[in-house]
Amino acid sequence: MVATMLVDVDHLLANPIYDANRCSIGFHPLHEFIPIIIYGVICFIKPLRYVGIGLIIHMVLDSIDCMISSGVWYV
Ligand SMILES: [Zn+2]
Repeated sequence: MVATMLVDVDHLLANPIYDANRCSIGFHPLHEFIPIIIYGVICFIKPLRYVGIGLIIHMVLDSIDCMISSGVWYV
């Protein structure tokens, strides 16, 4: 599950690091559509299943945050 926290490293690459009005989904390189599909595939790979689930949960939480702050699910 620690690996799922690493996806937030790309939040640190953004400038500014945290902007409450910005959507993570579609903005950060690891929060785009194609990586999210890869996370979905990881869910079906047994040894990586929990990493994949953790990543999907992360994306869902970021998306909900986006919905609350900006009124959209993604950029
Ligand atoms: Zn994130």
